[in-house]
Amino acid sequence: MAKIVLDGVDKVYAGGVKAVDDLNLEIADGEFMVLVGPSGCGKSTALRMIAGLEEITAGDLVIGEEVVNDRPPKDRDIAMVFQNYALYPHMTVEQNLAFGLKLRKVAKPEIQRRVQEAAEMLGLETYLKRKPAALSGGQRQRVAMGRAIVREPQAFLMDEPLSNLDAKLRVQMRASLNQLHERLGVTTVYVTHDQVEAMTLGDRVAVLREGRLQQVDTPKNLFNNP
Ligand code: ADP
Ligand code: ADP
Repeated sequence: MAKIVLDGVDKVYAGGVKAVDDLNLEIADGEFMVLVGPSGCGKSTALRMIAGLEEITAGDLVIGEEVVNDRPPKDRDIAMVFQNYALYPHMTVEQNLAFGLKLRKVAKPEIQRRVQEAAEMLGLETYLKRKPAALSGGQRQRVAMGRAIVREPQAFLMDEPLSNLDAKLRVQMRASLNQLHERLGVTTVYVTHDQVEAMTLGDRVAVLREGRLQQVDTPKNLFNNP
């Protein structure tokens, strides 16, 4: 687990679009922070900079105690979950969960322990031998989350992970995400354009608009002082 600090962070894309403008945000160790705002306000860009998928134009990004501005994604010890979860179609759920750990040469018993634990947390125990084609959308998204969990990273970054699911599943998955966060306590940054999702998920919610931070507060305080 680690805190994440954005200190005066800017992102200017080639062509001159200032996608993120002087963003200052401190996400505490173990906190669930939601970035919310309309399409184009810079949420994904902010998340991608934390992940190291996008360079920072100005400012500093701290993960844990270290400035990681120039560190590649693989050296940031974070796991990202996207809306388009790419599962390997020819592999079973179990193999999908284990694959990243195998690549990292984690010992087999340790892989088994982590896969079992993630499957149990996500309610996937009975689906371990199935292939993705035989799963529902919600189950697939759980596998995608499982692949992040088994890595036991310092932080989770999620970019609209529920937006491909239907309304009923989204409600279920929100509850699962809250339970998961309570249980794991891993620092989480979660991007959504959905205000209801923001208000029901976060310890705190950061509202972005045109690249700038407008407000950051608990859902309760935001609800009372919109
Ligand atoms: P959001 O996630 O809130 O929808 P984005 O971070 O995707 O916002 O985009 C913020 C702004 O940056 C938008 O104006 C978008 O068009 C622009 N943008 C995003 N990615 C790129 C890119 N790779 N190159 C140029 N402009 C980009
Ligand atoms: P999101 O919901 O994440 O904002 P988009 O459909 O806006 O998704 O963007 C999808 C991808 O295209 C992202 O990787 C983003 O960085 C890139 N992108 C967005 N806007 C632009 C742009 N104006 N120019 C180039 N790439 C862009």
